[in-house]
Amino acid sequence: MFKSHRYGLMTSIVGIAAVIVLLFVYRNLAWHGLIDHEIKAHTTLTQVFSNSIWPTYAAFLLDAARFPKAKLQQHEVTSRLHRDVARYIARSSVVKVKIYDLDGLTVFSTDAAQIGQDKSRNSGFVSAKNGVPIGKITFRDRFDTFEGVIVDRNLVSSYIPIRISDNAPVEAVFELYSDVTGLVGDLKKHQRQIIFWVVGSLSLCYLILFVMVRQADRTIHKRDKQHSDDKAKIHYQAHNDALTGLHNRTSFTERLEEAVKRARRAGCMLGLLQFDLDHFKLVNDSLGQSAGDQVLRTSARRMQVCIRESDMLFRTGSDQFAVIMEPLRNIEDASRLASRIIEAMAEPMKVHDQDIMVTASIGISIFPQDDINAEMLVKNSDAAMHLAKHEGRNQYRYYASEMKQQALDRLDFETGLKLALQQDEFVLYYQPRVESGSEEIVAVEALLRWAHPERGLVPPNSFIPLLEEMGLINSVGEWVLRTACRQTKKWHDSGMPRIRVSVNISSGQFRTHSFVDMVKDALDLSELDAQYLELELTESVLIENIDSAIKVMEALKEIGVSISIDDFGSGYSSLNYLKLLPLDFLKIDRTFVKDLATSEKDVAIIKTIAALAHSLRIKLVAEGVEEGYQAEFLRSQNCYEFQGFLYSPPVPSAAIPDMITSREVRRAV
Ligand code: C2E
Ligand code: MG
Ligand code: MG
Repeated sequence: MFKSHRYGLMTSIVGIAAVIVLLFVYRNLAWHGLIDHEIKAHTTLTQVFSNSIWPTYAAFLLDAARFPKAKLQQHEVTSRLHRDVARYIARSSVVKVKIYDLDGLTVFSTDAAQIGQDKSRNSGFVSAKNGVPIGKITFRDRFDTFEGVIVDRNLVSSYIPIRISDNAPVEAVFELYSDVTGLVGDLKKHQRQIIFWVVGSLSLCYLILFVMVRQADRTIHKRDKQHSDDKAKIHYQAHNDALTGLHNRTSFTERLEEAVKRARRAGCMLGLLQFDLDHFKLVNDSLGQSAGDQVLRTSARRMQVCIRESDMLFRTGSDQFAVIMEPLRNIEDASRLASRIIEAMAEPMKVHDQDIMVTASIGISIFPQDDINAEMLVKNSDAAMHLAKHEGRNQYRYYASEMKQQALDRLDFETGLKLALQQDEFVLYYQPRVESGSEEIVAVEALLRWAHPERGLVPPNSFIPLLEEMGLINSVGEWVLRTACRQTKKWHDSGMPRIRVSVNISSGQFRTHSFVDMVKDALDLSELDAQYLELELTESVLIENIDSAIKVMEALKEIGVSISIDDFGSGYSSLNYLKLLPLDFLKIDRTFVKDLATSEKDVAIIKTIAALAHSLRIKLVAEGVEEGYQAEFLRSQNCYEFQGFLYSPPVPSAAIPDMITSREVRRAV
């Protein structure tokens, strides 16, 4: 993290250091200024001395070397000179005076004891002898002066050449000491004040800077935290499913690749289980999306409880889940987990106050036995899952190599389906619907077939769910609607009795907002009178969003088409909605008709549905009528129309006119 206050502190330290250096420079300058000032004063004094006193004593002093030291110290001339010098320096800051001849001999000193000392090597003396005055500042804790001993003093001592005039040769050297303790004290006081103000203001600045930088640091820290929180959130959303909180497909692909690599390195087995909830679409379509969501959440929770800590559970698709078992000690562990999940799912789920059963079909593939590549393992378990579904659902299957072929076939099938519409491979068969009393053909139901180039005529149940999954149901549905209308109009134009055509509408098709327009277009294009078109809807279409369904149905009624509910009783029937809908027909699901002879319950159900339809003035149609006794019973229940193998299976369009004619002929006979 960026710690800006550290940089602030460092900057302040550098600032303080710079100020200390500046103070040091200032102190030196002041020191030198003081010395220079004293040298100048000493030079002036020396000048005065040279002009006034020196001429009197020069001859004696320049010849003083001839006297022994003691004699010189006590010489009468020396005493006189002492008095003159005393007078001369009175009222100045000079506290001591020494005079050297050009050989460096101390020929005079206000401290008589020093007379006779040799100073020829002293650098100050040498400099002055060469004509350059020089000075320095020193501190003495004890110092002998002209007027006695002084203590703790700052002194400036300077060596000044003595000459008669500026250009005259140097005759001797004067050494003067002046007491600058007062000045130095002032200087130090100033220095202290400057230090106080500078350090004080700097500290204040630093304090302000510190507070500001700390504040900025906090903001940056907060922003950094927000940033990393956002990153974590984005990562979570990208790798997790919002509904169940499980890892999602992206995460699955990444983790499986990694797990396969690890298993390859460690030389151990890995299990991949893929499951799909059986008939989940039905739950979604009939109970609504929120119920579907609840089922998914409950299923995810139940699965989560079944897996081991080392296993990973993913939601890989709408109702699809996967588990990576890593490591897999033995193949039976995969079976055990699959069984546990199937068992856990077997418990009924409470959804919107209804108990519903949701089962799962599971496919298992094993690394390295089935494949060593992650992508292929997914394909293999997918194929195994489809086998489990195909063989009755609510079970698990292991991948077997023959499935590869089946998976390829499925892929082929899907590819073929995509092209079927362009390649004109769809055909409509028509199954007659007869009036129960006269047994005359009054309508036909259009039933879709796929004329597969290799497989022959493929029934709709094996490809309509696929068309829905692949998002092709609308374009194919539109083709069915247009073809059925065109065909019926053709029959009408040929002069045979006018029959209705009923067309099956899938829920996806019904939900598209352009559905009513699609129906209008089909009628306009074919010029078929709307009263001859019937649309068969399933219950699931209605339950999902009853209000919008009613609106669409009313719009359809306005055009003039009839509406029927297909396979009535097989879905999540709510008898309540019947009274709300503008219905013309109810088609009882053929499963009730099938077991009429043996099932008293089915008899009771049909009776109830018939009574209900009758009271709501909706015409009842029975599908799957195969036997005479079924027709007999249904007729007794005021069933209005029959459809079933007893009369005719679905046939190509060309067969219909003959059928109508032959029935008419039979009736006439
Ligand atoms: P459905 O609408 O209930 O169609 C009636 C089904 O019952 C037809 O199956 C028909 O062949 C079959 N059937 C008729 N009489 C009897 C009988 O006496 N006994 C038995 N056991 N079965 C009989 P098919 O043609 O295989 O159609 C299956 C389903 O596919 C249809 O059920 C319908 O839901 C759907 N379907 C067919 N064509 C279309 C279509 O164009 N669009 C949509 N969305 N669905 C379609
Ligand atoms: Mg139908
Ligand atoms: Mg039906």
